[in-house]
Amino acid sequence: MIDSGGMDETVAKLSEMYDTTPVLVAAYDGFDRLRYANRAFRAAFFIEPDEAPLWPDLMRRNFIARRGTVISRPDFDAWLTSTYSRRGKTGFRAFETDLYDGRWLWMTETVQSDGWMLCIASDITHLKADGRSLRQDRDSAIKAAHTDELTGVANRRFVYARMDEMLRRPVPANGVLGCIGVIDLDNFKYVNDRFGHQAGDVILRDFAATILRHLRRSDCFGRVGGEEFMLVLPDTTVATAVLIVERMLASIHRSRPLKDRADVGYTFSAGIASGHPGDDTASLCARADRALYAAKLAGRDRIHVDCPGDEKSAIAG
Ligand code: GH3
Ligand code: MG
Ligand code: MG
Repeated sequence: MIDSGGMDETVAKLSEMYDTTPVLVAAYDGFDRLRYANRAFRAAFFIEPDEAPLWPDLMRRNFIARRGTVISRPDFDAWLTSTYSRRGKTGFRAFETDLYDGRWLWMTETVQSDGWMLCIASDITHLKADGRSLRQDRDSAIKAAHTDELTGVANRRFVYARMDEMLRRPVPANGVLGCIGVIDLDNFKYVNDRFGHQAGDVILRDFAATILRHLRRSDCFGRVGGEEFMLVLPDTTVATAVLIVERMLASIHRSRPLKDRADVGYTFSAGIASGHPGDDTASLCARADRALYAAKLAGRDRIHVDCPGDEKSAIAG
């Protein structure tokens, strides 16, 4: 066993070695803020020693300066939406990625249940490049299979897989596996009839982009149907889930997505349910749907929570 003095020495030594190795090492917290990066990582992504940028901000400024990760899509925001809705959800991921300076990295991401993510990358530029473009094609095909085309966020398949994962995890000490929220835009048929299908699509995109800004990285959000979306919030109590969705609703209230109609806003209704041991995706969704139905019935533009054992769902807040 290491005594605490020995541990301090080990940590100091580790930190010193991290700053001399060419291997890139970094850690992001659950809000995707960079909390640690060694010298090699900071050099590759142009980060000052005392900086702690958010991952989207870091990617954006490097994209503008044409440095760091190569992003081949011309529209950064579209890239960010589709990448962010799937970033760092699963326990472990490894992939090849290239930098503007010509280097290729083998990047690994390990995500803890509290959302912290460890990134370790090695330079593989000089390894055999055979099949590299094939592998990138495969990765982008997988990405496409998990993405909703209209909004760029995760699709039904991806969201349901995350929900299933959440329900299969070992039950934490507080017994809370997490929550889901089913979100349905209000009176959307009317919106389409009144302003046209194109305007409807603009609103759907605006909705997706706005909601993404409120997510912690371990949360998952995607489009599961026409104007129906799903949130998966692992390790989250009902009270916290309500708080998160309330913030989303407030944010959507302020949104005016139609360029030539600055007077037009929109709303949503949401049903929240918490996952318990023994639940499957069908039973959990059925409860969230029941709460959503109650929210619609109560007048829309609101959040309801499904209370287990109760015939009715409760109004949040
Ligand atoms: P409620 O408040 O009860 O949810 O009413 P609603 O009108 O939103 O519900 P309903 O399910 O009757 O209508 C959903 C509408 O959403 C109908 C359909 O035209 C529209 N919709 C579904 N997918 C899309 C899409 O991809 N683009 C656009 N523009 N509209 C869509
Ligand atoms: Mg609707
Ligand atoms: Mg609907």
